[in-house]
Amino acid sequence: MPFQAKKMGKIPPYMFAEFARKKAEMTKAGIDVIDLGIGDPDLPTPDHIVDKLIEEIRKPANSKYPSFIGHIEFRKAVANFYKRQFNVDLDPETEVLALIGSKEGLAHIVPTLIDPGDTVLIPDPGYPPYRMATYLAEGIVRYMPLKEGNQYKPIFNDIPEDVLAASKLMFLNYPGNPTAATVDLSFFKEAVSFARSHQIVIAHDSAYNMVTFQGYQAPSILQVEGAKDITVEFGSLSKTYSMTGYRIGYVVGNKEIIKSLSVYKNNTDTGQFTPIQLAAAYALNGNQGCVHKYNDIYQERMAAMVEGLQAIDIFVDPPKGSFFIWAKTPKGYTSNEFAQSVLEQTGVIITPGNAFGPSGEGYFRISLSLPNDRLFEAIERMKKNITLTRK
Ligand SMILES: *Cc1c(COP(=O)(O)O)cnc(C)c1O
Repeated sequence: MPFQAKKMGKIPPYMFAEFARKKAEMTKAGIDVIDLGIGDPDLPTPDHIVDKLIEEIRKPANSKYPSFIGHIEFRKAVANFYKRQFNVDLDPETEVLALIGSKEGLAHIVPTLIDPGDTVLIPDPGYPPYRMATYLAEGIVRYMPLKEGNQYKPIFNDIPEDVLAASKLMFLNYPGNPTAATVDLSFFKEAVSFARSHQIVIAHDSAYNMVTFQGYQAPSILQVEGAKDITVEFGSLSKTYSMTGYRIGYVVGNKEIIKSLSVYKNNTDTGQFTPIQLAAAYALNGNQGCVHKYNDIYQERMAAMVEGLQAIDIFVDPPKGSFFIWAKTPKGYTSNEFAQSVLEQTGVIITPGNAFGPSGEGYFRISLSLPNDRLFEAIERMKKNITLTRK
């Protein structure tokens, strides 16, 4: 008897298992493997946030069950952040919900909004949890291909009518993982108007909303007039403040959707530890100097990597957001072949683009969340040792 439900069988085997095996093998053989596959900040959580966490942990009242919709101080801090950054008004009581990391909410919004057999529109390539959550909710995954020629934006008019009629939910994500693509408000206007006319909820994942460069500021989809009728936006402290391990994020926007998700969550989890919520509120309300400092570091790493890639004839424009570089594999290589070849020739792990969906084939992703010395070492090795044998 298989100890799993049939829907579990839809989850593909761990995509990086083969790489993990190779990495272990090479490390054992004494090779210094550099992993540019992991999207997890190396930079530390800023001290003032850590200090606040410790202060709050010492208060006995904070060891009790947290508020499952989120501490009001955290929800107010998110609302203040939206006002300050986007000039969007949010009611902290009804339009903000705390999440145990945004991934938790992105996964739970699916069964909250769809029934088995309903369709979910998913960016391809995209962050894997959108499609995995859809499989687990027994929904139908319909990919929206993101093409370089359209700046990695979906072409809404390409989605067939019958698919639209069956669709309840659409995911979007800018600045994007893995593509590092950014958009301006006019794209969100188009998306909201399309979603309204087809009655499809938009879940916008803005995990990288503050990880931006070159003077670019990422818009919020809630800046579009009427967006709250049909849209929710997910945000996270993880990338902005190097707090991935803290597990704290939020969802904002349409209050009925937020209400439904909070009912789902109230019967699934009991919210994040109060001191973490209060440390996160402190991060959002406090001095944002740390964010600028970290973005400067990422921007510098990006410039170095873009230049390193140029040296091996791979050309990309420096991204304006996220900490990824998304680039085409050299001529004659599939995503997997190129990643294998880079690993064998340099001991550097990069992520094959097809891990993020079928349209990622022919691309690879590099993460810049690695200390400068390791990153520069990886660049040097790539410059020196990569020989492209196929043409
Ligand atoms: C990292 C990431 C998240 C998850 O963030 P958490 O808040 O740590 O769960 C969500 N979406 C994208 C696209 C990410 O890259």
